[in-house]
Amino acid sequence: MVKAAKTAAAVAAFAAAFACGGASAADARMSIIPAPREMKQMPGECRLKGDPKVEKSASIPPEGYELSVRPDGVTIRCSSAAGEFYARATLAQIERYDRRTRRKIYPCVEIKDFPEFKWRGILVDTARHFLGKTAILRVIDEMAQYKFNVLQIHFTDEEAWTLEIPGFPELAGQGSVRGRSGFVYGEGLQPFRYSAKDIKDIVEYAAARHVKVVPEIEMPGHFGAALRAYPSMKCKCPGGGKVLCIGNPEAVRFAEEVLDRVCEMFPSDVIHFGGDECTRKYWKDCPACQALVKREGLKGVEELQPWLTRRLVEHLAKKGRRAIGWDEIFMSSKWEKWDEFKKAGGDSFNPLLPKTTMGMCWRPWGAGALAANKGYEIVRCPTSHCYFDLRQGLAEDPFPYLGKGVTPLSKVYSLDILEGVAPEARANVAGGQCCNWGEFTIGIVDLEWKLWPRALALSEVLWTHPDPAKRDFAEFSKRAAVHRRRLLSRHVNCAPLK
Ligand SMILES: [Zn+2]
Repeated sequence: MVKAAKTAAAVAAFAAAFACGGASAADARMSIIPAPREMKQMPGECRLKGDPKVEKSASIPPEGYELSVRPDGVTIRCSSAAGEFYARATLAQIERYDRRTRRKIYPCVEIKDFPEFKWRGILVDTARHFLGKTAILRVIDEMAQYKFNVLQIHFTDEEAWTLEIPGFPELAGQGSVRGRSGFVYGEGLQPFRYSAKDIKDIVEYAAARHVKVVPEIEMPGHFGAALRAYPSMKCKCPGGGKVLCIGNPEAVRFAEEVLDRVCEMFPSDVIHFGGDECTRKYWKDCPACQALVKREGLKGVEELQPWLTRRLVEHLAKKGRRAIGWDEIFMSSKWEKWDEFKKAGGDSFNPLLPKTTMGMCWRPWGAGALAANKGYEIVRCPTSHCYFDLRQGLAEDPFPYLGKGVTPLSKVYSLDILEGVAPEARANVAGGQCCNWGEFTIGIVDLEWKLWPRALALSEVLWTHPDPAKRDFAEFSKRAAVHRRRLLSRHVNCAPLK
């Protein structure tokens, strides 16, 4: 807590010294995304030979930096390696290369910059359609340039289990074969799964770019692939349970051991254990689940998931990890009655949920605000602004999307990530994330099309401007147009701006 308070004080002092600004679009060379907090452009340019000078300064916030480009050289000041990395990312965005003199040329500028939010995330779904290591590394390359720092990988779902788990060979053995997906891409490339070596490579590649890889292992719902591999973990009830049998001690231990192996593979301090959209109908008819309800004195099967959630949160805590789960982990009532939960507000909160649990809040109406105001740390990814598997509103678009919802670039840019959050709970909002679900996204080509340019807008929301009123979409669009050309020049399949 002391460290957090010190960090907050350093950020406040830094912000007070350099009031929030925003980049000008007047000069394409200065089209920086996300816009720096404070930037002063000066006449002249620097023709740099060699490397910038790097100075450490403890007064600069974590991930923050100062960048000074003068005719006689470039100086980076920072307190961390991440700050230096982001300074270099900014520098790369204003660079021009003179082939004749073989020197890098930069316009003179003074920048003082730091992020508004510490969780600036992108989710990719490799369970619905397998993406492969190369695709993941490509995403990391680009997201890091725009100062995103969390890559959440949705490894498991009904359709597939794509992560090899030592000790449970059947998971990725049987689980990674497509289930019910209507699109099959690269079928000849099977098996669709990541080995321990793949994960090591991805984690190291990401770390070198200051991106944390947060693995997501869905349970107790969205667990179909695991249950195909290990059917004994299902509820034993008429029709065959399609969820983890919480009443079966062996099944709960199985869940814990899978998380143990995941902790060994991923150094992330946060582990995502899913928790969303789990029906309770199978637990009602399962003798083992009914027996657990009785044994633990629970009110009914609706308390089975909260019971499991608490157990998994505590299990991860013993390993020094924090659990994060979707909205539903906050609910004590049935998820089918979400409207009732909304009406009941805080009264329907899961009373068993430890306060250290983080929430990833995808429902747009404000479940996130409710949780933040109750003291839980949250990451916001509302379907309304952050689900990039919804269409972009382009006149012509070759790719399929989920449903009829439309989330154009302008809408992403208008996200109010603090909506409904009380001022005193502001620090409970760790940040935000875009979700790129894979039901209709079959590979890197359409993933990039759906991700860019919308992720450019989100990067600025999370880094520069928490207040939508301070954003100017017309001005941002000019900079985004420059970056679209640059993304295309790097062979990134960026969609047109809308
Ligand atoms: Zn059961």
